[in-house]
Amino acid sequence: MDTLNRLKARLATINDLDSAQALLGWDQHTYMPRGGLEPRVRQMATLQRLSHELLAAPETSELVSALEARLGELEPLDARLVVVTRRDLDQAVRLPGELVQRKSEATGRALDSWMINKPLNNFEAYRPHLEEIFTIVREEADALGYPEQPYDALLNRYEPGLLTSRLQAIFAELGAGLVPLARQLFERAERVDDAFLYQAFDPQAQWDFTVELLGALGYDFNQGRQDKSPHPFTTGFGIPDVRVTTRIHERDFRAGLFGSLHEGGHALYEQNINPAFDRGPLAQGSSLGIHESQSRLWENLVGRSRPFWNRWFGEVKHRFPAPLEGVEFQRFHEAINRVKPSLIRIEADEVTYSLHIFVRFELELELLSGRLAVRDLPEAWNQKMRDTLGITPPTVAEGCMQDMHWADASVGYFPTYALGNLYGVMIFNQARQELPDLDEQISSGQLAPLKDWLTEKVYRHGRSQDPAEILRQATGRELSPQPFLHYVREKYGEIYGLE
Ligand code: ZN
Repeated sequence: MDTLNRLKARLATINDLDSAQALLGWDQHTYMPRGGLEPRVRQMATLQRLSHELLAAPETSELVSALEARLGELEPLDARLVVVTRRDLDQAVRLPGELVQRKSEATGRALDSWMINKPLNNFEAYRPHLEEIFTIVREEADALGYPEQPYDALLNRYEPGLLTSRLQAIFAELGAGLVPLARQLFERAERVDDAFLYQAFDPQAQWDFTVELLGALGYDFNQGRQDKSPHPFTTGFGIPDVRVTTRIHERDFRAGLFGSLHEGGHALYEQNINPAFDRGPLAQGSSLGIHESQSRLWENLVGRSRPFWNRWFGEVKHRFPAPLEGVEFQRFHEAINRVKPSLIRIEADEVTYSLHIFVRFELELELLSGRLAVRDLPEAWNQKMRDTLGITPPTVAEGCMQDMHWADASVGYFPTYALGNLYGVMIFNQARQELPDLDEQISSGQLAPLKDWLTEKVYRHGRSQDPAEILRQATGRELSPQPFLHYVREKYGEIYGLE
Protein backbone atom coordinates (compact mmCIF):
# COMPACT_ATOMS: atom_id res chain seq x y z
CA MET A 1 0.00 0.00 0.00
CA ASP A 2 1.45 3.38 -0.82
CA THR A 3 2.25 6.02 1.79
CA LEU A 4 -0.87 8.11 1.20
CA ASN A 5 -3.20 5.15 1.56
CA ARG A 6 -1.41 4.01 4.70
CA LEU A 7 -1.87 7.46 6.21
CA LYS A 8 -5.56 7.53 5.20
CA ALA A 9 -6.13 4.11 6.76
CA ARG A 10 -4.55 5.28 9.99
CA LEU A 11 -6.63 8.48 10.02
CA ALA A 12 -9.78 6.42 9.36
CA THR A 13 -9.10 4.31 12.45
CA ILE A 14 -8.49 7.44 14.52
CA ASN A 15 -11.73 8.91 13.16
CA ASP A 16 -13.68 5.76 14.04
CA LEU A 17 -12.40 5.96 17.62
CA ASP A 18 -13.36 9.64 17.79
CA SER A 19 -16.82 8.96 16.34
CA ALA A 20 -17.43 6.18 18.85
CA GLN A 21 -16.38 8.57 21.62
CA ALA A 22 -18.76 11.22 20.27
CA LEU A 23 -21.59 8.69 20.22
CA LEU A 24 -20.93 7.84 23.88
CA GLY A 25 -20.96 11.57 24.62
CA TRP A 26 -24.26 12.02 22.78
CA ASP A 27 -25.78 9.23 24.84
CA GLN A 28 -24.39 10.69 28.05
CA HIS A 29 -26.21 13.97 27.44
CA THR A 30 -29.49 12.48 26.18
CA TYR A 31 -30.47 9.04 27.45
CA MET A 32 -27.82 7.72 29.86
CA PRO A 33 -29.09 7.06 33.39
CA ARG A 34 -27.22 8.97 36.10
CA GLY A 35 -25.61 5.78 37.38
CA GLY A 36 -23.91 5.29 34.03
CA LEU A 37 -21.48 8.14 34.57
CA GLU A 38 -18.52 6.31 36.13
CA PRO A 39 -18.15 3.58 33.47
CA ARG A 40 -18.96 6.08 30.74
CA VAL A 41 -16.15 8.43 31.74
CA ARG A 42 -13.74 5.46 31.72
CA GLN A 43 -14.90 4.26 28.29
CA MET A 44 -14.55 7.70 26.77
CA ALA A 45 -11.11 8.18 28.33
CA THR A 46 -9.96 4.86 26.84
CA LEU A 47 -11.13 5.80 23.34
CA GLN A 48 -9.54 9.23 23.75
CA ARG A 49 -6.22 7.66 24.80
CA LEU A 50 -6.19 5.16 21.92
CA SER A 51 -7.00 7.89 19.40
CA HIS A 52 -4.28 10.17 20.79
CA GLU A 53 -1.71 7.34 20.84
CA LEU A 54 -2.38 6.49 17.20
CA LEU A 55 -2.13 10.12 16.10
CA ALA A 56 0.99 10.90 18.16
CA ALA A 57 2.77 7.63 17.23
CA PRO A 58 6.10 8.02 15.40
CA GLU A 59 4.68 6.01 12.45
CA THR A 60 2.06 8.72 11.79
CA SER A 61 4.72 11.42 11.79
CA GLU A 62 6.93 9.34 9.46
CA LEU A 63 4.08 8.93 6.97
CA VAL A 64 3.30 12.65 7.09
CA SER A 65 6.99 13.57 6.68
CA ALA A 66 7.34 11.28 3.67
CA LEU A 67 4.30 12.91 2.06
CA GLU A 68 5.44 16.43 2.93
CA ALA A 69 8.60 15.74 0.90
CA ARG A 70 6.48 15.33 -2.25
CA LEU A 71 3.54 17.59 -1.45
CA GLY A 72 3.57 19.17 -4.93
CA GLU A 73 2.91 15.80 -6.57
CA LEU A 74 -0.26 15.14 -4.59
CA GLU A 75 -3.81 16.00 -5.60
CA PRO A 76 -4.73 19.35 -3.94
CA LEU A 77 -7.18 17.76 -1.47
CA ASP A 78 -4.66 15.08 -0.54
CA ALA A 79 -2.00 17.74 -0.03
CA ARG A 80 -4.43 19.59 2.20
CA LEU A 81 -5.06 16.41 4.17
CA VAL A 82 -1.33 16.15 4.83
CA VAL A 83 -1.09 19.80 5.95
CA VAL A 84 -4.08 19.46 8.30
CA THR A 85 -2.77 16.20 9.73
CA ARG A 86 0.60 17.82 10.43
CA ARG A 87 -1.21 20.59 12.27
CA ASP A 88 -3.18 18.11 14.39
CA LEU A 89 -0.05 16.10 14.98
CA ASP A 90 1.92 19.14 16.18
CA GLN A 91 -0.89 19.98 18.60
CA ALA A 92 -0.89 16.40 19.86
CA VAL A 93 2.86 15.98 20.33
CA ARG A 94 3.85 19.43 21.54
CA LEU A 95 1.84 19.02 24.73
CA PRO A 96 3.78 16.87 27.20
CA GLY A 97 1.87 13.81 28.39
CA GLU A 98 2.21 15.00 31.97
CA LEU A 99 0.47 18.28 31.09
CA VAL A 100 -2.34 16.51 29.20
CA GLN A 101 -2.94 14.25 32.18
CA ARG A 102 -2.85 17.16 34.65
CA LYS A 103 -5.27 19.13 32.47
CA SER A 104 -7.66 16.22 32.19
CA GLU A 105 -7.78 15.82 35.97
CA ALA A 106 -7.94 19.57 36.64
CA THR A 107 -10.83 20.13 34.23
CA GLY A 108 -12.68 17.16 35.73
CA ARG A 109 -12.38 18.70 39.19
CA ALA A 110 -13.08 22.25 37.98
CA LEU A 111 -16.23 21.21 36.10
CA ASP A 112 -17.43 19.32 39.13
CA SER A 113 -16.76 22.31 41.39
CA TRP A 114 -18.43 24.66 38.90
CA MET A 115 -21.56 22.50 38.81
CA ILE A 116 -21.78 22.35 42.62
CA ASN A 117 -20.78 25.93 43.43
CA LYS A 118 -22.51 27.89 40.69
CA PRO A 119 -26.00 27.38 42.18
CA LEU A 120 -24.55 28.20 45.63
CA ASN A 121 -22.90 31.39 44.30
CA ASN A 122 -19.72 30.20 45.98
CA PHE A 123 -16.87 31.67 43.97
CA GLU A 124 -14.34 31.17 46.77
CA ALA A 125 -14.74 27.38 46.65
CA TYR A 126 -14.39 27.40 42.86
CA ARG A 127 -11.46 29.88 42.78
CA PRO A 128 -8.53 27.44 43.39
CA HIS A 129 -9.76 25.26 40.52
CA LEU A 130 -9.95 28.20 38.17
CA GLU A 131 -6.47 29.33 39.25
CA GLU A 132 -5.14 25.88 38.40
CA ILE A 133 -6.89 25.97 35.02
CA PHE A 134 -5.31 29.29 34.05
CA THR A 135 -1.88 28.05 35.16
CA ILE A 136 -2.32 25.00 32.93
CA VAL A 137 -3.61 27.03 30.00
CA ARG A 138 -0.55 29.32 30.22
CA GLU A 139 1.72 26.25 30.13
CA GLU A 140 -0.21 24.91 27.14
CA ALA A 141 0.25 28.16 25.23
CA ASP A 142 4.00 28.03 25.89
CA ALA A 143 4.22 24.38 24.83
CA LEU A 144 2.23 24.99 21.63
CA GLY A 145 4.19 28.11 20.68
CA TYR A 146 2.85 31.34 19.22
CA PRO A 147 3.81 34.07 16.75
CA GLU A 148 3.11 37.15 18.89
CA GLN A 149 1.51 36.38 22.22
CA PRO A 150 0.38 33.35 24.25
CA TYR A 151 -3.31 33.87 23.44
CA ASP A 152 -2.48 33.23 19.74
CA ALA A 153 -1.75 29.59 20.56
CA LEU A 154 -5.15 29.14 22.25
CA LEU A 155 -7.17 31.03 19.64
CA ASN A 156 -5.48 29.04 16.88
CA ARG A 157 -7.03 25.82 18.16
CA TYR A 158 -10.51 27.13 17.38
CA GLU A 159 -9.89 29.73 14.65
CA PRO A 160 -6.80 28.68 12.67
CA GLY A 161 -4.77 31.53 11.24
CA LEU A 162 -6.31 34.39 13.22
CA LEU A 163 -3.92 36.42 15.40
CA THR A 164 -4.99 37.99 18.68
CA SER A 165 -3.80 41.42 17.51
CA ARG A 166 -6.06 41.22 14.45
CA LEU A 167 -8.97 39.98 16.58
CA GLN A 168 -8.49 42.92 18.96
CA ALA A 169 -8.62 45.35 16.03
CA ILE A 170 -11.79 43.70 14.67
CA PHE A 171 -13.47 43.73 18.08
CA ALA A 172 -12.48 47.38 18.67
CA GLU A 173 -14.13 48.35 15.38
CA LEU A 174 -17.18 46.21 16.13
CA GLY A 175 -17.53 47.64 19.63
CA ALA A 176 -17.22 51.23 18.40
CA GLY A 177 -20.36 50.67 16.32
CA LEU A 178 -22.22 48.28 18.57
CA VAL A 179 -22.00 49.91 22.01
CA PRO A 180 -23.66 53.22 20.98
CA LEU A 181 -26.29 51.39 18.94
CA ALA A 182 -27.15 49.14 21.89
CA ARG A 183 -27.49 52.19 24.18
CA GLN A 184 -29.95 53.80 21.76
CA LEU A 185 -31.99 50.62 21.51
CA PHE A 186 -32.06 50.08 25.30
CA GLU A 187 -33.58 53.55 25.70
CA ARG A 188 -36.45 52.48 23.49
CA ALA A 189 -36.80 48.96 24.89
CA GLU A 190 -40.31 49.63 26.24
CA ARG A 191 -41.46 50.15 22.65
CA VAL A 192 -41.41 46.36 22.20
CA ASP A 193 -43.85 44.21 24.19
CA ASP A 194 -42.73 40.57 24.20
CA ALA A 195 -44.68 39.41 27.28
CA PHE A 196 -46.80 36.98 25.25
CA LEU A 197 -43.70 34.88 24.46
CA TYR A 198 -43.54 33.83 28.11
CA GLN A 199 -47.05 32.43 28.42
CA ALA A 200 -47.74 28.69 28.37
CA PHE A 201 -46.92 27.12 24.97
CA ASP A 202 -47.87 23.44 24.81
CA PRO A 203 -44.54 21.52 25.00
CA GLN A 204 -45.58 18.73 22.61
CA ALA A 205 -46.81 21.26 20.05
CA GLN A 206 -43.49 23.13 20.44
CA TRP A 207 -41.56 19.92 19.86
CA ASP A 208 -43.61 19.07 16.74
CA PHE A 209 -43.05 22.57 15.39
CA THR A 210 -39.25 22.32 15.82
CA VAL A 211 -39.26 18.98 13.96
CA GLU A 212 -41.25 20.51 11.12
CA LEU A 213 -38.91 23.51 10.91
CA LEU A 214 -35.79 21.33 10.87
CA GLY A 215 -37.30 19.41 7.97
CA ALA A 216 -38.09 22.68 6.18
CA LEU A 217 -34.45 23.77 6.58
CA GLY A 218 -33.39 20.62 4.77
CA TYR A 219 -32.10 18.72 7.79
CA ASP A 220 -32.21 15.07 6.78
CA PHE A 221 -33.96 12.98 9.43
CA ASN A 222 -32.96 9.79 7.58
CA GLN A 223 -29.39 10.64 8.51
CA GLY A 224 -29.93 12.26 11.89
CA ARG A 225 -32.41 12.81 14.70
CA GLN A 226 -33.41 15.40 17.27
CA ASP A 227 -33.53 14.62 21.00
CA LYS A 228 -33.80 16.63 24.21
CA SER A 229 -30.91 17.80 26.41
CA PRO A 230 -30.49 20.59 28.98
CA HIS A 231 -27.83 22.31 26.83
CA PRO A 232 -28.60 21.97 23.12
CA PHE A 233 -25.75 20.68 20.95
CA THR A 234 -24.95 19.10 17.58
CA THR A 235 -22.70 16.09 17.17
CA GLY A 236 -21.81 13.81 14.26
CA PHE A 237 -20.46 10.29 13.95
CA GLY A 238 -19.24 10.36 10.38
CA ILE A 239 -20.96 11.89 7.36
CA PRO A 240 -23.94 12.12 7.31
CA ASP A 241 -25.15 10.85 10.73
CA VAL A 242 -25.42 14.21 12.48
CA ARG A 243 -27.64 14.56 15.56
CA VAL A 244 -29.11 17.65 17.16
CA THR A 245 -30.68 18.27 20.55
CA THR A 246 -32.97 20.99 21.82
CA ARG A 247 -34.66 22.02 25.06
CA ILE A 248 -38.30 22.92 25.33
CA HIS A 249 -39.44 25.47 27.93
CA GLU A 250 -43.15 25.68 28.40
CA ARG A 251 -42.91 29.35 29.36
CA ASP A 252 -40.18 30.53 27.01
CA PHE A 253 -41.24 29.93 23.44
CA ARG A 254 -37.88 31.18 22.11
CA ALA A 255 -35.77 28.42 23.68
CA GLY A 256 -36.94 25.43 21.65
CA LEU A 257 -37.73 27.34 18.47
CA PHE A 258 -34.46 29.23 18.08
CA GLY A 259 -32.42 26.49 19.76
CA SER A 260 -33.54 24.03 17.07
CA LEU A 261 -32.90 26.48 14.24
CA HIS A 262 -29.44 27.16 15.68
CA GLU A 263 -28.44 23.52 16.02
CA GLY A 264 -30.11 22.80 12.68
CA GLY A 265 -27.68 25.27 11.09
CA HIS A 266 -24.71 23.45 12.63
CA ALA A 267 -26.15 20.14 11.43
CA LEU A 268 -26.80 21.29 7.84
CA TYR A 269 -23.12 22.18 7.66
CA GLU A 270 -21.94 18.78 8.84
CA GLN A 271 -24.47 16.76 6.84
CA ASN A 272 -23.31 18.40 3.63
CA ILE A 273 -19.54 18.08 3.88
CA ASN A 274 -18.01 16.35 0.85
CA PRO A 275 -18.61 12.60 1.50
CA ALA A 276 -15.11 11.91 0.14
CA PHE A 277 -13.76 13.47 3.37
CA ASP A 278 -15.52 10.89 5.55
CA ARG A 279 -13.36 9.14 8.16
CA GLY A 280 -10.69 11.83 7.98
CA PRO A 281 -9.72 15.14 9.56
CA LEU A 282 -11.23 17.18 6.69
CA ALA A 283 -14.73 15.95 7.62
CA GLN A 284 -15.27 18.82 10.06
CA GLY A 285 -16.13 22.49 9.91
CA SER A 286 -13.40 24.91 8.81
CA SER A 287 -13.31 26.52 12.25
CA LEU A 288 -15.62 27.14 15.18
CA GLY A 289 -16.25 30.67 13.89
CA ILE A 290 -17.37 29.42 10.47
CA HIS A 291 -19.44 26.72 12.17
CA GLU A 292 -21.13 29.31 14.36
CA SER A 293 -21.75 31.52 11.32
CA GLN A 294 -23.99 28.79 9.94
CA SER A 295 -25.95 28.20 13.14
CA ARG A 296 -26.51 31.93 13.54
CA LEU A 297 -27.31 32.42 9.86
CA TRP A 298 -30.23 29.98 10.10
CA GLU A 299 -31.26 31.05 13.60
CA ASN A 300 -31.10 34.83 13.09
CA LEU A 301 -30.60 35.96 9.50
CA VAL A 302 -33.27 33.51 8.32
CA GLY A 303 -35.19 32.54 11.48
CA ARG A 304 -35.69 36.05 12.89
CA SER A 305 -36.41 37.67 9.51
CA ARG A 306 -39.69 38.93 8.09
CA PRO A 307 -39.57 36.69 4.99
CA PHE A 308 -39.25 33.56 7.16
CA TRP A 309 -42.29 34.49 9.23
CA ASN A 310 -44.28 35.39 6.13
CA ARG A 311 -44.28 31.63 5.60
CA TRP A 312 -44.57 30.48 9.21
CA PHE A 313 -46.62 33.06 11.12
CA GLY A 314 -49.98 31.63 10.06
CA GLU A 315 -48.71 28.19 11.03
CA VAL A 316 -47.53 29.32 14.46
CA LYS A 317 -50.87 31.07 15.13
CA HIS A 318 -52.68 27.87 14.17
CA ARG A 319 -50.48 25.68 16.40
CA PHE A 320 -50.53 27.98 19.45
CA PRO A 321 -53.92 29.73 19.33
CA ALA A 322 -54.20 30.62 23.03
CA PRO A 323 -50.88 32.37 23.77
CA LEU A 324 -50.86 34.08 20.36
CA GLU A 325 -54.46 35.25 20.45
CA GLY A 326 -54.63 38.83 19.20
CA VAL A 327 -50.90 38.93 18.38
CA GLU A 328 -50.34 40.45 14.95
CA PHE A 329 -47.41 39.75 12.63
CA GLN A 330 -45.66 43.02 13.38
CA ARG A 331 -45.80 42.53 17.14
CA PHE A 332 -44.57 38.95 16.85
CA HIS A 333 -41.62 39.99 14.68
CA GLU A 334 -40.69 42.80 17.07
CA ALA A 335 -40.96 40.51 20.09
CA ILE A 336 -38.64 37.83 18.72
CA ASN A 337 -36.18 40.63 17.91
CA ARG A 338 -36.34 42.50 21.18
CA VAL A 339 -33.01 44.04 22.23
CA LYS A 340 -32.36 44.41 25.93
CA PRO A 341 -29.36 44.32 28.24
CA SER A 342 -29.16 40.87 29.75
CA LEU A 343 -26.89 39.17 32.23
CA ILE A 344 -26.76 35.79 30.51
CA ARG A 345 -24.86 35.33 27.25
CA ILE A 346 -26.93 32.46 25.87
CA GLU A 347 -30.12 34.51 26.26
CA ALA A 348 -28.71 37.59 24.54
CA ASP A 349 -30.18 39.06 21.35
CA GLU A 350 -28.32 39.61 18.06
CA VAL A 351 -27.14 43.11 18.98
CA THR A 352 -25.89 42.53 22.53
CA TYR A 353 -24.50 39.02 22.03
CA SER A 354 -21.07 40.20 20.91
CA LEU A 355 -20.86 42.58 23.90
CA HIS A 356 -20.97 39.53 26.18
CA ILE A 357 -18.09 38.08 24.18
CA PHE A 358 -16.01 41.26 24.57
CA VAL A 359 -16.26 40.91 28.35
CA ARG A 360 -14.95 37.33 28.30
CA PHE A 361 -12.25 37.96 25.71
CA GLU A 362 -10.76 40.94 27.57
CA LEU A 363 -10.83 39.05 30.87
CA GLU A 364 -9.19 35.99 29.30
CA LEU A 365 -6.34 38.16 28.03
CA GLU A 366 -5.87 39.74 31.44
CA LEU A 367 -6.04 36.45 33.32
CA LEU A 368 -3.64 34.78 30.91
CA SER A 369 -1.07 37.56 31.17
CA GLY A 370 -1.41 37.67 34.96
CA ARG A 371 -2.52 41.33 34.89
CA LEU A 372 -5.70 40.14 36.58
CA ALA A 373 -5.69 37.67 39.49
CA VAL A 374 -8.46 35.06 39.56
CA ARG A 375 -9.45 36.29 43.03
CA ASP A 376 -10.33 39.68 41.50
CA LEU A 377 -12.35 38.15 38.64
CA PRO A 378 -15.90 38.64 40.01
CA GLU A 379 -15.42 42.39 40.47
CA ALA A 380 -13.56 42.79 37.15
CA TRP A 381 -16.42 40.95 35.42
CA ASN A 382 -19.04 43.18 37.01
CA GLN A 383 -17.11 46.30 36.06
CA LYS A 384 -16.93 45.24 32.43
CA MET A 385 -20.65 44.40 32.39
CA ARG A 386 -21.36 47.91 33.66
CA ASP A 387 -19.08 49.43 31.03
CA THR A 388 -20.49 47.49 28.06
CA LEU A 389 -24.11 46.66 28.96
CA GLY A 390 -24.83 49.06 31.79
CA ILE A 391 -25.93 46.37 34.23
CA THR A 392 -24.38 44.67 37.26
CA PRO A 393 -24.87 40.95 37.92
CA PRO A 394 -26.39 40.48 41.39
CA THR A 395 -24.73 37.06 41.80
CA VAL A 396 -21.66 35.22 40.45
CA ALA A 397 -23.97 32.59 38.95
CA GLU A 398 -25.30 35.38 36.73
CA GLY A 399 -21.78 36.82 36.46
CA CYS A 400 -18.39 35.19 36.02
CA MET A 401 -19.59 31.67 36.86
CA GLN A 402 -22.36 31.47 34.26
CA ASP A 403 -20.42 29.60 31.54
CA MET A 404 -18.64 26.27 31.83
CA HIS A 405 -15.97 27.03 29.19
CA TRP A 406 -13.25 28.16 31.60
CA ALA A 407 -13.74 25.17 33.90
CA ASP A 408 -13.23 23.07 30.77
CA ALA A 409 -10.00 25.01 29.99
CA SER A 410 -11.56 26.20 26.70
CA VAL A 411 -9.77 29.56 26.76
CA GLY A 412 -9.74 31.21 23.31
CA TYR A 413 -13.11 29.70 22.41
CA PHE A 414 -15.50 32.58 23.21
CA PRO A 415 -14.35 34.92 20.40
CA THR A 416 -15.54 32.39 17.81
CA TYR A 417 -19.15 33.11 18.83
CA ALA A 418 -18.81 36.78 17.88
CA LEU A 419 -16.82 35.91 14.75
CA GLY A 420 -19.73 33.68 13.73
CA ASN A 421 -22.01 36.73 13.64
CA LEU A 422 -19.57 38.61 11.39
CA TYR A 423 -18.89 35.72 8.99
CA GLY A 424 -22.60 34.88 8.89
CA VAL A 425 -23.73 38.30 7.67
CA MET A 426 -20.95 38.49 5.07
CA ILE A 427 -21.84 35.06 3.69
CA PHE A 428 -25.59 35.75 3.76
CA ASN A 429 -25.13 39.11 1.95
CA GLN A 430 -23.30 37.28 -0.81
CA ALA A 431 -26.06 34.65 -1.04
CA ARG A 432 -28.59 37.45 -1.39
CA GLN A 433 -26.58 38.96 -4.27
CA GLU A 434 -26.25 35.67 -6.09
CA LEU A 435 -29.83 34.53 -5.41
CA PRO A 436 -31.89 37.60 -6.35
CA ASP A 437 -35.16 35.88 -5.38
CA LEU A 438 -33.89 34.80 -1.96
CA ASP A 439 -36.41 36.79 0.10
CA GLU A 440 -39.33 35.58 -2.04
CA GLN A 441 -38.06 32.01 -1.75
CA ILE A 442 -37.79 32.25 2.04
CA SER A 443 -41.24 33.88 2.17
CA SER A 444 -42.75 30.94 0.32
CA GLY A 445 -40.91 28.36 2.42
CA GLN A 446 -38.39 27.35 -0.24
CA LEU A 447 -35.14 27.10 1.67
CA ALA A 448 -33.40 24.59 -0.61
CA PRO A 449 -31.82 27.20 -2.93
CA LEU A 450 -30.10 28.85 0.07
CA LYS A 451 -29.02 25.50 1.50
CA ASP A 452 -27.63 24.45 -1.88
CA TRP A 453 -25.74 27.72 -2.27
CA LEU A 454 -24.25 27.37 1.22
CA THR A 455 -23.32 23.76 0.48
CA GLU A 456 -21.47 24.84 -2.64
CA LYS A 457 -19.68 27.79 -1.00
CA VAL A 458 -19.14 26.60 2.56
CA TYR A 459 -20.43 23.21 3.66
CA ARG A 460 -18.89 20.82 1.17
CA HIS A 461 -15.39 22.18 1.76
CA GLY A 462 -15.30 20.99 5.36
CA ARG A 463 -11.86 21.61 6.78
CA SER A 464 -10.16 21.64 3.38
CA GLN A 465 -10.08 25.45 3.55
CA ASP A 466 -9.16 27.74 6.45
CA PRO A 467 -11.74 30.33 7.59
CA ALA A 468 -10.10 33.18 5.66
CA GLU A 469 -10.11 31.04 2.47
CA ILE A 470 -13.76 30.05 2.93
CA LEU A 471 -14.68 33.70 3.30
CA ARG A 472 -12.55 34.80 0.37
CA GLN A 473 -13.82 32.20 -2.09
CA ALA A 474 -17.44 32.63 -0.96
CA THR A 475 -17.54 36.44 -0.80
CA GLY A 476 -14.29 37.76 -2.33
CA ARG A 477 -13.69 39.70 0.89
CA GLU A 478 -11.58 39.77 4.04
CA LEU A 479 -13.20 39.59 7.47
CA SER A 480 -14.69 42.93 8.53
CA PRO A 481 -17.24 43.93 11.18
CA GLN A 482 -18.80 46.56 8.89
CA PRO A 483 -21.34 44.30 7.11
CA PHE A 484 -22.64 43.08 10.48
CA LEU A 485 -22.88 46.66 11.80
CA HIS A 486 -24.74 47.71 8.66
CA TYR A 487 -27.13 44.77 9.08
CA VAL A 488 -28.01 45.47 12.73
CA ARG A 489 -28.33 49.23 12.17
CA GLU A 490 -30.75 48.70 9.32
CA LYS A 491 -32.82 45.93 10.90
CA TYR A 492 -33.08 47.33 14.40
CA GLY A 493 -33.26 50.94 13.26
CA GLU A 494 -36.46 49.99 11.48
CA ILE A 495 -37.93 47.97 14.38
CA TYR A 496 -37.11 50.67 16.95
CA GLY A 497 -37.81 53.65 14.73
CA LEU A 498 -34.29 55.11 14.81
CA GLU A 499 -33.25 57.75 12.32
ZN1 ZN B 1 -23.58 27.18 18.10
